Amino acid sequence: MTPKMNVTIKENLLAIREALPENVALVAVSKTKSEAEILEAYAVGQRIFGENKVQEMSKKQETLPQDIEWHMIGHVQRNKVKYMAPYVALIHGVDSLKLLQEIDKQAKKNDRTIPCLFQIHIAQESSKFGFNEEELEEMVQSGILEQLKNVEIKGLMGMATFTDNRDQVRTEFRLLKAIFDKLRVKLPQLQVLSMGMSGDYPIAIEEGSNMVRIGSSIFGERNYSQ
Ligand SMILES: *Cc1c(COP(=O)(O)O)cnc(C)c1O
Repeated sequence: MTPKMNVTIKENLLAIREALPENVALVAVSKTKSEAEILEAYAVGQRIFGENKVQEMSKKQETLPQDIEWHMIGHVQRNKVKYMAPYVALIHGVDSLKLLQEIDKQAKKNDRTIPCLFQIHIAQESSKFGFNEEELEEMVQSGILEQLKNVEIKGLMGMATFTDNRDQVRTEFRLLKAIFDKLRVKLPQLQVLSMGMSGDYPIAIEEGSNMVRIGSSIFGERNYSQ
């Protein structure tokens, strides 16, 4: 992919949004992107933005318009939860009970409920975080979730393997959708299935995603050297 200039953020966003089915929410992944770039997306109505670093997100949250919904999509360290607890709209990457307990504690301190997704490990790469199906079931069965009054489990999130093999990506998304459907029998409040990024979101949507997290196809390639 060639780097895109800022002038195309608006066009990229409008084209993607037009192609998304109505039931699919779009998280514009703005990690490493400037406030000016985020404001370009904001100007055409985008209100949900995703970041993967708590510190970067909090800095942006302080200065950017207050009606933005900030989603934490990255791996979260427990000692960072307190910094986003006052405002975060959805935490996608909940991958341990200890993290969920810390989110509950910090939410309570802020007198609010924090919406969360459980991250499920579906990729073949070992580097991707998340529960496996067995761990998830155990946690649900244990009844421990009912004790956490200040978190709201809204659904599941997953990332497919980074590969050109479309069939493999499809199989992984299909697995996540199957886990989602099965879990909903016990937890009917589960509504959100967050899967799909720039490279694979059309497949994710075909497999039942209702929330996609798209960065580079909106904002252009990320430059981590800055
Ligand atoms: C960076 C990131 C994305 C967006 O990736 P793109 O390929 O730029 O669309 C989506 N989800 C997660 C968890 C990410 O870290």
